Amino acid sequence: MQSKSLSDTDKKVLNNLLLQVEQKTADFMGYPVSKDLDFSELMPFLNYPMNNLGDPFVACTYDVGSREIEKEVIAFFASLFRAEADDWWGYVTNGGSEGNLYGLFLARELHPKAMVYYSETTHYSVQKNLHLLNMPNIVISTQENGEINYQDLEETIRMNRQLPVIIMANIGTTMTEARDDISKIKSILKKLAIKNYYIHADGALSGSYSAFVEPRPAFDFADGADSIAISGHKFFGSPMPCGVVVVKKSNRDRIARSVAYIGSVDTTITGSRNGHSPLFLWYTLKKLGLDGLKDRALNCLETAKYALEKLNEYGIEAWQNPHTITVNFPSPSARIRQKWQLASESGWSHIICMPNIEKTQVDDLITEMVTELLVTSK
Ligand SMILES: *Cc1c(COP(=O)(O)O)cnc(C)c1O
Repeated sequence: MQSKSLSDTDKKVLNNLLLQVEQKTADFMGYPVSKDLDFSELMPFLNYPMNNLGDPFVACTYDVGSREIEKEVIAFFASLFRAEADDWWGYVTNGGSEGNLYGLFLARELHPKAMVYYSETTHYSVQKNLHLLNMPNIVISTQENGEINYQDLEETIRMNRQLPVIIMANIGTTMTEARDDISKIKSILKKLAIKNYYIHADGALSGSYSAFVEPRPAFDFADGADSIAISGHKFFGSPMPCGVVVVKKSNRDRIARSVAYIGSVDTTITGSRNGHSPLFLWYTLKKLGLDGLKDRALNCLETAKYALEKLNEYGIEAWQNPHTITVNFPSPSARIRQKWQLASESGWSHIICMPNIEKTQVDDLITEMVTELLVTSK
């Protein structure tokens, strides 16, 4: 197809980058990205301009894409998140942030006069999106583990009870994976007799595997969520950032708008949409199946438990929220944080035991941390 080829210098640039990416990927443990990927079977698709323009459920005149597969992916998540059989809709996004933006957008269209409540440990992108959408909002304090302070939430809503309520619930905060309990939030709304409300669940990482956790956390449609967003490149794993948002179809029908140019409905945030990412998600779902995904989650939980116990054994004050894969501990030196790419905040760091993290890697990190502690205490 392309007659020209890269110069030797440019080939070297590519090779060097590849080596660097390989090496940096091998070491990291601090960010929630799966790296146990082998998508070789999908490589031929990279030679085509796949684009799922517009609404995945409405045909489009641009027809090089993966809409059928995208619909299967959405159907899978709608069922995993216990959406009502005929009342779900969604699409594959560019990431968890876009899914959250969509959830907030939908909520605002339904309740233009609402106040948005979210906790102070909410992902940094949410505040920016609220600003973009020009939605009034109030930050609620959190408990020590990162979960929303329900008492503060109740009191704050009470003071504004003339306004409809939009809640951005964290199904796993970024730093400690604390889950806000949607059934507790619902009971607060009931107690205050709030009639008009919308609950969006930001499930970026933990929402992706919470359905496999026992007892099942209160996070999905059956628990009272009106929409759920997750990241695709986190628990499931994908070479490019992507995500999934699932909402109630009855709600999205109220904001759909038809566009002649693409012969579809402009229900999503962006114009062009990645036609490859649904393929990568579909591939993983099909390859692993429900049982495989559950094993994948249980394995992560088991590794996290191992890391926690081992850290505690060495006298390091590590802790974690129940049924999560994030283990928090006092920040080690800058050198260690950099080497293992550990996210850190207010003196705390964490590792996230993603599917590809082996116990031996946990051991290596702990050995380095312990050695450092011994040296500095001399
Ligand atoms: C990662 C994350 C996001 C953002 O998701 P992206 O896929 O990076 O856009 C939002 N909320 C939480 C809690 C996250 O952990």
